[in-house]
Amino acid sequence: MDGTRKTRLGGMLLALLALAALPGACAGEPEDTGTAVFPLPQRYAGSYTNDWGAPRPQGPHEGTDIFAPEGTPVYAITGGTVVAEGWNTLGGHTVTIAAAYDVGPVREGDRLYYAHLRTSSPLEPGEEVRAGQKIGEVGRTAGEEVGSVADFPPHLHLGWYEGFRLFRESRAQAPSGAMNPYPLLRQVAG
Ligand SMILES: [Zn+2]
Repeated sequence: MDGTRKTRLGGMLLALLALAALPGACAGEPEDTGTAVFPLPQRYAGSYTNDWGAPRPQGPHEGTDIFAPEGTPVYAITGGTVVAEGWNTLGGHTVTIAAAYDVGPVREGDRLYYAHLRTSSPLEPGEEVRAGQKIGEVGRTAGEEVGSVADFPPHLHLGWYEGFRLFRESRAQAPSGAMNPYPLLRQVAG
């Protein structure tokens, strides 16, 4: 390897390191120090069952449904970065947040998917959220048309997807990368 190439590689490494350090460095407020919270007010901490794999028209259920009245606030379980936000046929209004740190069974980079929200989220991809920050409200949105409501009782559908991994066994329990959020909810229910 000649000297120029070595320097260029070194430069790239430095740039990568700088990027890795960026989220903490530019955050305006102190970072979460690794907390996790139940995604709805505590009074709904008994409002779900282990319904992973339950038969649904679209296939086995890949998440946990937590039932609560329409308009109930939904909180981010962990601090993290919004990686997606928008409408899809199955989930209605949704927000997906990548965890910023390991907490309980959650690993940094795992994605938590919050679906059937009452309204479209004001959060933008790239935005950082804290654990416990309100990210939406319980609703019953789903269907072909944006904003339509489905024929099921209002609930939060929580999905949990494995994030990027290197030198680690996959924890995924479905080809989509989904894992059962039930044990995680049991841990954060308090
Ligand atoms: Zn569901």
